[in-house]
Amino acid sequence: MLGWLWERRASSFEVMSDLPRALRERLDEAFETGLPEVVRRTAAEDGAVKFLLRLADGVQVEAVHIPMGRRQTVCVSSQAGCAVDCAFCVTGRIGAGRNLLAGEIAGQYLAVAREAAFGPHDANVVFMGMGEPLLNTTNVMAALDLLEREVSNRRITVSTAGIVPGIEQLAQRKRLPNLAVSLSAPDDETRTRLMPVNRIWPIADLFRALRAWPLEPGRRITFEYVLVDAVNDSEAAAARLAQLVRPLPSKVNLIPLNESPEWLPGLRRPPVDRVDQFARTLAAAGVPVTVRWSKGLGAAAACGQLKGRETPRPPRKERGARSPHH
Ligand code: SAH
Ligand code: SF4
Repeated sequence: MLGWLWERRASSFEVMSDLPRALRERLDEAFETGLPEVVRRTAAEDGAVKFLLRLADGVQVEAVHIPMGRRQTVCVSSQAGCAVDCAFCVTGRIGAGRNLLAGEIAGQYLAVAREAAFGPHDANVVFMGMGEPLLNTTNVMAALDLLEREVSNRRITVSTAGIVPGIEQLAQRKRLPNLAVSLSAPDDETRTRLMPVNRIWPIADLFRALRAWPLEPGRRITFEYVLVDAVNDSEAAAARLAQLVRPLPSKVNLIPLNESPEWLPGLRRPPVDRVDQFARTLAAAGVPVTVRWSKGLGAAAACGQLKGRETPRPPRKERGARSPHH
């Protein structure tokens, strides 16, 4: 039966033609395949497609399909909201949501694979949708077991806001996924302002856990850095970031803020030349750096911009407006 759900992308028992018809009918009556149901798809100009998915209990989450030539990236959610509450994140504004089960996480990949009609070994998977994967580590690790049926661990990336015990737990796994860490500031003061979780696991503790992460030779840790105008985009911040990450085999992925006047009032994307300058400073200091411009996705479908709702609702309280100092 798993072969039908996986390799053959079945979405109901009815099509499982090697089972007797009577059994298929009884299965369809009595059980759900448990695959998330596609509520809506939203396409961006650059080819990426955002899927709003409904789980068995009615909870809605989002997944994104990003085609890249013959390969694809599928961005999956690990929770139906997020309690970590980063200042720049729309999902964080919505607040905590329940942990997704392993099947619900792998099911997002399968639902997208079926909709986008790609095969078993064509995709990368990134845990960069809604939620903090390492606050749901047990289910995420079980989801890795399921996903690895068709996606190699080297093609899977778990992105975390820096939950130290989660990093330590994941490090025990036999086959390690790639690790991406949302850093977004090189000093505790700025990082705490953007990512309150830094109060619990400040930069020194986070880096102690990262130094213990069993990186395979040739692999690197990715540091994601959301660039916010006049908050964390200075020359000095770039220089300090380079110093901080250089001792680890690493690369930096700069993500110019995806603005949302409604959900993230007061936070702006820096001008292009400041983004370029920040990247050049890192590169000159010997740190590999890429810039993730979320093209047509900017408005609503970029990873880290996911709401899991059809109609936006105003922010839960007036505290998105942390005015940047100058
Ligand atoms: N909770 C995990 C994974 C989901 S967020 C984490 O925080 O790493 C995926 C990425 O989107 C993170 O690197 C996050 O910093 C980034 N992100 C969140 N909100 C964003 C925004 N408004 N603009 C650009 N990137 C954002
Ligand atoms: Fe949660 Fe990640 Fe958003 Fe922070 S950036 S609130 S950890 S989903």
